[in-house]
Amino acid sequence: MPNQVRKIGFIGAGNMPQSIIGGMIKGGFPADAVLVSNPSRPKLDLLEEKYGLTTSQDNHEIARQADVIVLSVKPQLMREVCEDLQANVPDLANKLIVTIAAGLRFASYYEFLGDNIRVVRVMPNTPSLVGAGLSGLVADSSVTDDDREFVTQVFNFVGTTIWLEDEDGIDVLGAVAGSGPAYFFEFMHGLQRAAEEFGFDPEQARLMVQQTALGAAKMACESELSFIDLRKQVTSKGGSTAKGIEAYQQAELGEISKRAVGAAVARNQEMA
Ligand code: NAP
Repeated sequence: MPNQVRKIGFIGAGNMPQSIIGGMIKGGFPADAVLVSNPSRPKLDLLEEKYGLTTSQDNHEIARQADVIVLSVKPQLMREVCEDLQANVPDLANKLIVTIAAGLRFASYYEFLGDNIRVVRVMPNTPSLVGAGLSGLVADSSVTDDDREFVTQVFNFVGTTIWLEDEDGIDVLGAVAGSGPAYFFEFMHGLQRAAEEFGFDPEQARLMVQQTALGAAKMACESELSFIDLRKQVTSKGGSTAKGIEAYQQAELGEISKRAVGAAVARNQEMA
């Protein structure tokens, strides 16, 4: 089916699908091709009012009309929601299944929905909520090039996408990009506390850290230089930044990052 006429149906209307839908509509995706279901009405009413979407409290109704079904419920609800769809929605094999739930592997979806389905697993990260996300995507072997193109387009509306070779890549991407915002927030908190220790009030200290993080991220995104070369560019020999960097190097910040990612990968593998 040509991508431009595919209808996309979100099962679950929580924070993440709301952000994806918002990004899609803002980016020009036709609102009449977006459908959403959710057990309670308030989020659906909001989406109807804001964008004029088709909504329903009945998952079957939305899944039946959709060509692409985005499973957007919490992982612990996935079995129940999928088995219910499997029992009530005909021709699931003709639809593309996209899941944004963390942890569950392809094998679980075949068990819940039948093994003749086409599945793409997506791991969006939290900055997708503000349009600056990074989504890792992995497809099973029956997913077509058109499917890939469609899913790429959808998740590019809330940031950037990376296709991974296999499911193991999702565990690593989760440990870097999924958990990464928390690592940065932890670091930002430390920097804010340091500014406060040296006499700044919390508001000014926060603003300094926010703007510096934003500026550094923009430079890192816009430059072709490696991160280490960017760092060298802002570090004069014998200057104050060099002294600060020395303190980080003595504490082995690089090693700490490796340990943090290793620990998060191990946990993702345990939970899969
Ligand atoms: P959320 O804000 O907690 O929303 C979950 C939604 O699921 C609620 O609107 C809930 O409706 C609805 N729901 C509950 N039972 C349902 C059912 N039987 N059928 C259909 N919908 C049902 O969750 P979220 O943050 O959007 O996360 C959704 C998925 O994205 C999860 O699998 C999560 O792991 C994944 N994810 C999220 C993030 C993130 O940063 N938020 C990042 C990566 C992946 P009610 O309000 O009526 O109960």
